[in-house]
Amino acid sequence: MYSFKELNKSELTDILVDNSFSAFRSDQIFNWVYNNLVIEPDLMKNLPGGLLKFLTDNFLMENLNLIKIKASNDGTTKFLWELTDGERVETVLIPQSKEEKYTACLSVQVGCDLGCSFCATGMDGCKRNLTAAEIVDQVWQISKYIAENNLGELRNVVFMGMGEPFLNYDNLKKSLEIINSEGAFQIGSRRITVSTVGIVPKIREFGRDFDQVGLAVSIHSGDNEKRSKLMPVNKKYDLNAIKASLKDYYKLTSRRITIEYLMIADFNDSIYDAKKLVEWIEDMNVFVNLIPANPVAGLDHKPSPKQRINKFKNYLDKVNVPVQIRTSMGEDVTAACGQLRLKEEEANA
Ligand code: SF4
Repeated sequence: MYSFKELNKSELTDILVDNSFSAFRSDQIFNWVYNNLVIEPDLMKNLPGGLLKFLTDNFLMENLNLIKIKASNDGTTKFLWELTDGERVETVLIPQSKEEKYTACLSVQVGCDLGCSFCATGMDGCKRNLTAAEIVDQVWQISKYIAENNLGELRNVVFMGMGEPFLNYDNLKKSLEIINSEGAFQIGSRRITVSTVGIVPKIREFGRDFDQVGLAVSIHSGDNEKRSKLMPVNKKYDLNAIKASLKDYYKLTSRRITIEYLMIADFNDSIYDAKKLVEWIEDMNVFVNLIPANPVAGLDHKPSPKQRINKFKNYLDKVNVPVQIRTSMGEDVTAACGQLRLKEEEANA
């Protein structure tokens, strides 16, 4: 059985040709699946009967089963999916503005092994990587939801949900090629951002493979000791190693890098911390997002008060570091990664 959504068009063409169907049929099938959002072979009106039967018998068209949707007051919507083996992952749909444009935040792993101290996803470790089809299907299902509810347009895709994208690099790469390909969703590279905690060798590989796709790096502290407390991965890839790889990435892509900085009360939100961050980003072309931490049940960090976030931002402004405070969306639907899945597991325990 082929999983349809992990095939790019030339792979589909090869399968069709090997089975005595015309190559041009792959254009028609891609058009049905990705432009018309139709996956039932019976509804693909311009295909001959033999091909419809071949598709029905040999292709798994859908990888996610919707378990729960939770809509927030601010328009953020969270989706909980069940995979074919019973595991669960989340996708978040975030409105960009009043212009009916949306961003989909995708998951790449069931859980995560990196154990960041502020993150619900990392609490149980990583059960497995998502397949490319399971990643692509999140975009497909979200596109369908947007179309069926007349919401507007899926404009951006960000890999910032459950899991570390660079620890599932092959499937990330395949899914990016499909999401971005002509004849599929046609979401341009510049409208896609991949977020990492700083898996150093993959930062360079990513720069070589995708010089137009955006890169965001979660830093959260410019001080190695503090960062290691928050993110154990810092013991393997510390701030110096990350900076060296980001410089190489910039040489390859000339793309400005987004630095994600979670503001945690009395931990990394002082002027000392702002200075450490500024020291670290010196001579790099970056944009800093300050993110008020989401409270997570079972974890003891607290969101930084507004006043301290503003002071921190003012310091960065003063030294001409491009910075914005990113609003935390969907707090009432537990939109921080991994929280909805966790709540469901608690409720079912
Ligand atoms: S923040 Fe990201 S890398 Fe860290 S544990 Fe959570 S999912 Fe993993």
